[in-house]
Amino acid sequence: MKKPQPLQYIKAISICALITFTNCKQDPTKMSENILTQEWNGPYQGVPAFDKMKVTDIKEAIEFGMTESLADIDKIANNTEAPNFTNTIAAIEASGKTLDRVFNYYGILSSNMSSPAFRSIQSELAPKLSEYSSKITQNEKLFQRIKAVYDASQETPLELQEQRVVDLTYKKYEMNGANLDPAKKERYAAINKELSSLYNTFSDNVLHDEENYVTYLNADQLDGLSEGFIKSAAKIATDKGQDGTYAITNTRSSMDPFLTYATNRALRKQVWENYYSRGDNGDDFDNNAIIAQILKLRKERVALMGYNNYAEWRLQDRMAKTPENAMDLMMAVWPAAIGRVAEEVADMQTVANDNGDNITIEPWDYRFYAEKVRKKKYDLDSDEVKQYLQLDKLTEALFFTAEKLFNYKFTPVKEGTVPVFQEDVHVWEVTDKDSGKHIGLWYLDPFAREGKRSGAWATTYRSYTNFEGETNVLASNNSNFVKPAPGEAVLVSWDDATTFFHEFGHALHFFSSNVKYPTLNGGVRDYTEFQSQLLERWLSTDQVINKFLVHYKTGAPIPASLVTKIKKAATFNQGFGTTEYLASALIDMKLHLADPTNIDIDAFERETLAELKMPKELPMRHRTQHFGHVFSGEGYATAYYGYMWADVLTSDASEAFAEAPDGFYDKETADKLVKYLFAPRNAMDPAEAYRLFRGRDAKIEALMKDRGFPITE
Ligand SMILES: [Zn+2]
Repeated sequence: MKKPQPLQYIKAISICALITFTNCKQDPTKMSENILTQEWNGPYQGVPAFDKMKVTDIKEAIEFGMTESLADIDKIANNTEAPNFTNTIAAIEASGKTLDRVFNYYGILSSNMSSPAFRSIQSELAPKLSEYSSKITQNEKLFQRIKAVYDASQETPLELQEQRVVDLTYKKYEMNGANLDPAKKERYAAINKELSSLYNTFSDNVLHDEENYVTYLNADQLDGLSEGFIKSAAKIATDKGQDGTYAITNTRSSMDPFLTYATNRALRKQVWENYYSRGDNGDDFDNNAIIAQILKLRKERVALMGYNNYAEWRLQDRMAKTPENAMDLMMAVWPAAIGRVAEEVADMQTVANDNGDNITIEPWDYRFYAEKVRKKKYDLDSDEVKQYLQLDKLTEALFFTAEKLFNYKFTPVKEGTVPVFQEDVHVWEVTDKDSGKHIGLWYLDPFAREGKRSGAWATTYRSYTNFEGETNVLASNNSNFVKPAPGEAVLVSWDDATTFFHEFGHALHFFSSNVKYPTLNGGVRDYTEFQSQLLERWLSTDQVINKFLVHYKTGAPIPASLVTKIKKAATFNQGFGTTEYLASALIDMKLHLADPTNIDIDAFERETLAELKMPKELPMRHRTQHFGHVFSGEGYATAYYGYMWADVLTSDASEAFAEAPDGFYDKETADKLVKYLFAPRNAMDPAEAYRLFRGRDAKIEALMKDRGFPITE
């Protein structure tokens, strides 16, 4: 349950892009001026021309890609030969390359370098893109060919990977309304078009509130804050034209440390309220009505296909299979989580009382007093730990882990060889350590900046497939570390270091893919966080700690006593972490199981949390009004539970390593890890893959133990 925020909307589009066909050579000269539509040139099988990317080219490029695709989808659909795997399924798999290329630029412009100019183009394109994918998923002739191949394969099964692509393709079309009659199809497309605009408005509203609620502090309001934080707050203020003040931006990376350390309670309240009111300010940028409309449309859309609710429709091809299974897991953990919150609050109240603070713990006090409890109970100072967590060393630690588990070698690519979209982005070549075989490139965009979305995420510019010859992988990791003043080391928190490993886990999952067809690279939402969550565990292995956690000034290794404290504190604040996450996951699921007629979002959230006995001392991790995972697209709608689902697998798989003869660096276990849990991606049913790795299904006990929760039964 880290904070990864994969590209919800872009990913959704990318999936659509995979079902397009753009091999057509119609009017090939027409777009020769538009760099974004062109083949990638240069080394490493060609790389994106990020250095030549212009916002003004994107609209034309996307529109060209869509037109080309649609003409070619018709070619597959109107093929006079009898449908078979090659002329239908493989042809679809081979399609979409131009548009796929353009989407990579679109993704960068949307997530890494957003601007008002791009956002207005995005709003204009959103309904067109939606209309475009509806045209493909609702192409009757195309679907009949897919269905014919699928039906035949039920009689005479194909080879494993071919069969899996056929099954997934058929299911995807069916779930997207391909079996509907013409009238229903029309309504289905209209709903999707409206939804895509609502998703954009939702995101824009959140971003507006993130950019427009900045708290500027004077020099006498900085008590408790670290030197590094103050320096960076001063720089942000200067950049915003408020020289001489200190800016607390309305993002998690600013809010979280401020609430942890600032002694000024009134300011903590203000920063907290700004952050948790995003999208809920009752103004032009309020998301409540938009969410209600999204829920209504989602329910209407799945009802066209005969489903009772959105959750039931969504979970059928997930590892959990049904909303009930997901709810059962969440509710099995929930009582222990809120029980732990009560203990944490009691501990914090004692600290406050002992200190003579004369307060009752409120949500804006949680992080502040939790930190005091942490110091008292575990004598662990987050700032002291930070001195040993340098971004550069952590990057080396990632490479070390990748070498030990995957036999990968990372070599920096000489500057200027591979184009980047921003000077802070760096690129490494990934090869097999023994054979020297080229595997791909790893792009790292580490720092926060205006226009870059918050959080951390991983994505690919090109994925591995071998059905048309082997392709290399271009993968990227993106973070929002605060860029230090010149000459200073980038020091990060233990949490951020964990997230850094997490996102790298996604990258390794991309690099290790050995699937034949693009569709098989697709992630299963409640499974695809497992690999990345598992990777987090290597941060706290002795090998990584001893080698890479050294003091940023003296180079001295992290003291063993501090490591002992970190490990001892691992279950600290799990009440907070688990409860804030589960509250969001439960609300996500319950919103989609509810009747959306006349739903009042604020009231629903309040009443549902009351029913759940949500402790009043903390909020949901993402309140509904800014829950981008769920409402800025469909990527995580009724899927936020997936982090915990994946975490059950994570804890259980970690136990397999812990029990192995050589622990987390056990060769045999690592080989099985790569072979069954990483390389097949979605070429194999996840439950089956897990059984091959573990010899049985995952159990919940390891997760409860990891979080320090009592195990009942
Ligand atoms: Zn993730």
